[in-house]
Amino acid sequence: MTEFQNILSWDYETLLSQCTEKWSMPRFRADQICQWIYQKKVFQFNEMTNLSKDLRKFLEEETAILPPYMIRKESSTLDSTVKFLWGLIDGENVESVLLSHGNHLTACISTQVGCPLNCSFCATGQSGFIRNLETAEITGHFLAMEKHIGKDIQNIVFMGMGEPLLNTGNLFKSIRNLNHPRMRKLGARHMTVSTAGIVPGIIELADLEIPVRLSVSLHAPNDNLRKKLMPVNQTYSLSRLMESLRTYQEKTGERITFEYLMLKDVNDLTEYAYELGALLSGLDSYINLIPYNPVDKRFTRSTKSQVKAFMEILKNLGLEVEVRKEKGTDINAACGQLRRNIPSLK
Ligand code: SAH
Repeated sequence: MTEFQNILSWDYETLLSQCTEKWSMPRFRADQICQWIYQKKVFQFNEMTNLSKDLRKFLEEETAILPPYMIRKESSTLDSTVKFLWGLIDGENVESVLLSHGNHLTACISTQVGCPLNCSFCATGQSGFIRNLETAEITGHFLAMEKHIGKDIQNIVFMGMGEPLLNTGNLFKSIRNLNHPRMRKLGARHMTVSTAGIVPGIIELADLEIPVRLSVSLHAPNDNLRKKLMPVNQTYSLSRLMESLRTYQEKTGERITFEYLMLKDVNDLTEYAYELGALLSGLDSYINLIPYNPVDKRFTRSTKSQVKAFMEILKNLGLEVEVRKEKGTDINAACGQLRRNIPSLK
């Protein structure tokens, strides 16, 4: 290889110009290569049987297809959830989760190694922050999951490790490649970005030409409580966050999902349900109440009756609300349980 290049880091235009201008190939070669990688999940040039042997050899010398490699896989015995651990080129690793609802598959994908936000209830932040994932790593571990199971996955939620909107450059490039009609062809409505409330990222997302869905991890209806649970609230207060969400909704016309973790005697009091209702009034919203998945002893799960009471108040205020079904708790694959420095690997 003259110059190290991971083809998974290229957008379609780069790949096309590389093929046509640098390598003097006809355009359709670029499309064939994309089809092999993004649709057939073939990561070896020598398996691309509609390219001549010489061309395969040439491509092998010029470039490489390098998705993260699978270190480990764990399957839940409670449901069909599967957790994967992926190795990265610098020795770091990230987790991802495959969730099934009947025949419908959803991949929960990571965007950072660790997370800098340190939310008090989340395992990922406790193991610190190392770095952003590259485009090739974000797209790569999704494609590698599909290759491993031998099936296409219909939905992606960027809700794995890290804060997606602190890595907008690589995230958006990945979304473009996953959506591109000549690459992975995944519909915009099938991708959801979840954020802890990074205001500049929300404004950037509002201008993204691909209308992916937005989900906001709210978890508290006022600044006092929220900043105790989520330090990011000290940088982006609720009023700034709500203002950015109104701008987002004006620009995109999209409904916004709000995630609200139910922590016993912390944020689950009925008065907070009224406060939450008032905070969200005027927005087209959908509320997802999330049962707390155990990380340490600081928090416990709200009782079922408290969750019900909270939900009823929100419904009576005219809001749409549902309780999220938990999956994969026995393999620590549930929301907030992904971490780096997997103990058994040390
Ligand atoms: N940083 C992004 C995406 C990763 S977290 C975000 O904050 O949205 C994905 C979701 O899991 C978030 O809603 C997060 O608040 C939630 N979560 C974190 N820890 C959890 C836990 N222990 N139990 C249940 N959900 C948790």
